[in-house]
Amino acid sequence: MSLQIVWFREALRTTDHPALLAAARAGAVLPVFVADPEDGIGGAQAWWRDRQLATLADDLARLGSPLIRRRGPATEVLPRLVRETGAKALHVTRALDPLGTQRQRDLARILASLAVTFESHDGLTLLPPEALRTGAGQPYRVFTPFWKALCAASSPPRPVPAPERLQRPLVEVTDEPEAGAMRRPLPSWTRGLAACWEPGEATGHERLRRFLAERIERYHLDRDLPGEPGTSSLSPWLANGALSVRQAWWAAVDSSPSPQGEGPSTWLRELGWREFGWHLLHHFPHTPESPLDSRFGDFPWREDPAGLEAWRRGRTGYPIVDAGMRQLWETGWMHNRVRMIVASFLVKDLLLPWQEGARWFLDTLVDADPASNTLGWQWAAGCGADAAPFFRIFNPVTQSRKFDPDGTYLARWVPELADLPPAWRHEPWLAPPLTRAGNYPLPVVDHAMARQRALAVLASRKGSR
Ligand code: FAD
Repeated sequence: MSLQIVWFREALRTTDHPALLAAARAGAVLPVFVADPEDGIGGAQAWWRDRQLATLADDLARLGSPLIRRRGPATEVLPRLVRETGAKALHVTRALDPLGTQRQRDLARILASLAVTFESHDGLTLLPPEALRTGAGQPYRVFTPFWKALCAASSPPRPVPAPERLQRPLVEVTDEPEAGAMRRPLPSWTRGLAACWEPGEATGHERLRRFLAERIERYHLDRDLPGEPGTSSLSPWLANGALSVRQAWWAAVDSSPSPQGEGPSTWLRELGWREFGWHLLHHFPHTPESPLDSRFGDFPWREDPAGLEAWRRGRTGYPIVDAGMRQLWETGWMHNRVRMIVASFLVKDLLLPWQEGARWFLDTLVDADPASNTLGWQWAAGCGADAAPFFRIFNPVTQSRKFDPDGTYLARWVPELADLPPAWRHEPWLAPPLTRAGNYPLPVVDHAMARQRALAVLASRKGSR
């Protein structure tokens, strides 16, 4: 049987991996991971992937064909491996990010010149991005019609099982030992992440099972409360390809007595937001760096290195912002409601460019994903698809009182505030001097002033058009 290479990049798992299954059916399988310096993934995600690769390697070895690791540009490493082994085909999970898409295009061309088949299999999204178009044949830029079209389209394909076994190649291929380490040494601050997460395919399925059994029915009620464990926290598994979105989708549909119920349907809709992000990124590959709404291309953002650093380190003096930024720093994850609040604070209260925030998130999130991150940041900055208008500015104190009424989340992540009576935790600067939290900073900016400043910038730009 002919030798088939499977390149693992988007889907680091063995189940619901159509590329792996197709290769296993066609011949002996050589699974390969390429540590490519150009991938440029962030520190927290590098930590996650390092561990996830170790579990993937174990799973593949159990199936019969160990994972081979190489280092270097994938477009050089993989053709070299093809020549070395005499492989007849290379299978990939179709990439939808700009870099991955370009790489796969280049590889297909190079392999064609070597008379080697290049096979691309869908697996990153529920449906391929071409499947959903507006009546005018354009990509959707507004979520609700996108979601309606997704629900009306034929159901997403069912997940496929792992191959029963993999036939090991006859040719001996050696691992490159130093390629086992990720692209660069892991930053020391990632050490704490091990206390929070256990990456791997099996742990993702277990977390999904527990979420569906214990929490999904109340999801619509609890999902906005950062002090409660109301969401699934499955994003790191989804973003790193340990779990496929089709597995998550169908598990929710199959396990729920009523998938139309408010809890399950709200959760499926969130998977729809993930889908929207990937489709948008595929259709508008410039958006990780530039706004989808080109009117924001020359927005007069401020420069404020001290303000940016206060935001990054969770020292803005606004407890809900600081709690979120410290949760991110310590755990590599942040609750969605708080992501919206900290993003709004950066772009509207501090008037700093959303790209700075997006970059910090990409470096520090274990679930960093160029599609959802771009969607989230451009939503917050008012310059993306279906974005919150720029003039709608979150008040961090109102948000805090509404979504963390008893200040549990604040006390957990900003321990300086834990001894304050809950009513003062949202605005500690108003507390009577004797109860004030000693070393907690005063606000770096006055929200009312910042709001007027942001609105004035917006008004001046409208006038100049
Ligand atoms: P649940 O509430 O359990 O939802 C289930 C899944 O649906 C999530 O795991 C995720 O895959 C998807 N999902 C949920 N909400 C969203 C959303 N608003 N947009 C897209 N997908 C969603 N998510 C990432 O995975 N990676 C990112 O880099 C990322 N950056 C973000 C940046 C900003 C500024 C904002 C506002 C949001 C960002 N999100 C990102 C989306 C969202 O915050 C996370 O997906 C969510 O908090 C993950 O928690 P969970 O797994 O408990 O989600």
